Amino acid sequence: MKLNFYGGVSEIGGNKILVNNNDSSNSSKDSSLFLDFGMSFSKAGNYFSEFLQPRKLNGIIDFVELGLLPKIKGIYREDYLKHCGINSPENPSVDGVLLSHAHMDHSSYIHHLREDIPIFMRKESEIILKVLEETGKGSFAEILNLKKSFHYVPKARGEGYKKLIGKDSIVKRNIVTLDSYSPIEINGFKITSIPVDHSLPGSSAYFLENDNETIVYTGDIRFHGRNKKYSDIFVKKSQKFNPTIMLCEGTRINENSKKTEKDIEIEATNLIKNHDGLAIVNYPIRDLDRLITFYNVAKNTDRILAINSKQAHMLELLDSEKSIENNYPNLKDSSICIYFPRKKQGLISGEHYVSFDGSWKILDSNDEEVLKDYEIWEREFLEKYNVITYKDLKEIPNNYIFRCDFFELKELIDIKPKNGLYIHSLTEPFNEEMEIDLKRVTNWLRHFNLLPMHKMHVSGHGSGEEILNMIKEINPEKLYPIHTEHVESFDVLKDEGIEIIHPNLSY
Ligand SMILES: [Zn+2]
Repeated sequence: MKLNFYGGVSEIGGNKILVNNNDSSNSSKDSSLFLDFGMSFSKAGNYFSEFLQPRKLNGIIDFVELGLLPKIKGIYREDYLKHCGINSPENPSVDGVLLSHAHMDHSSYIHHLREDIPIFMRKESEIILKVLEETGKGSFAEILNLKKSFHYVPKARGEGYKKLIGKDSIVKRNIVTLDSYSPIEINGFKITSIPVDHSLPGSSAYFLENDNETIVYTGDIRFHGRNKKYSDIFVKKSQKFNPTIMLCEGTRINENSKKTEKDIEIEATNLIKNHDGLAIVNYPIRDLDRLITFYNVAKNTDRILAINSKQAHMLELLDSEKSIENNYPNLKDSSICIYFPRKKQGLISGEHYVSFDGSWKILDSNDEEVLKDYEIWEREFLEKYNVITYKDLKEIPNNYIFRCDFFELKELIDIKPKNGLYIHSLTEPFNEEMEIDLKRVTNWLRHFNLLPMHKMHVSGHGSGEEILNMIKEINPEKLYPIHTEHVESFDVLKDEGIEIIHPNLSY
């Protein structure tokens, strides 16, 4: 097998690794698979920022020009190519993408791929991507469904053409969900998805094999989360698999913190236990392990965890999928509720007037117009579950732990917390923009008298010791360190007789 690295080399994230299955005896049997197709935050950040974005009018060209996407024939979506006068071959040139998990640095450039390239993933990843796609508004975010751009169709009435938009423009990608530990054949490859512990549901390592070679790809992995047992099983299975090649992440290869997810639960419980006032916490939207942590903290401290509708949507979908081992809180549980901010006209709080024929009035909470302040997918939560507004947090602050992310800080203006406390349960900033945002958070906290910021976080990645021990136990012939800024830290494994190969970018 031949490996080409189009990302994830000497950087954290941006994994796009092409594995070629060269059958020299039969060229028609050539096949290839991408391991992830993610965005490199550091490379994208070299050129772009929130308000300086690649132009959609140029399809993939802005991305290719700046080395964000590889120049490979037969992988990109036809609408983008044709719009720029580039013809697409009839069939894709790769046989699929094995997605390790639904973080953007592994998944987000799938947006640019042809819809007929199968994307393999675990069901949980599909659910997370579905929620983010349905509830987000970002551009370049068509992971599960592609929306055809630059298409016109005849008008239903009258003459002329109109732009193809809405439902009619949507093309479903070929998403293949994988059962754990069940091998499948993909054009000469045998592929197995192996669940691992990481900071979001659905994370998968992969085994790839053909007649000559056996490859283990770790994806992102840790051993201190709520799913540690899966990483342990992964190591056992990998030993048996006896890989010739191992592609291993090394985000924290030079760090050795031993803190676990459970430690955060204890620390936060102790902090909130005797606190008289609102507890506010920010943790990542996809990190449902962390959600469980703060749900447990809520139970330990006799409070109710208030999450937003996006996370509620994730929990609901995970609950409805019977094939998923579900340790997540049920939305009907009395220790969890959904926070509804005032949106659009803000009518939910029963304090805003609207004018009907010149007479101003406040609408009943069940009025249709109140519901219309929310997206269709959100409206049913209002009927089905325990929903609260800022008034609840203001009036009985001791009852709640309020999850408040960066974009929800404005809610503090309504809540006006008295004697509140704030837990920052996120990774440290790793670029300038994140540092600036953290300063903004600090300003909000200062304004509402919420300082000091209590930082409580454990990473989604194994420590140096854990990663090196894992590799020793698996004992591959060759090791390619990826998803790390410190490839040289893997060189100590040479003493174990493992050949360490520092990968080079293929473009
Ligand atoms: Zn990740």
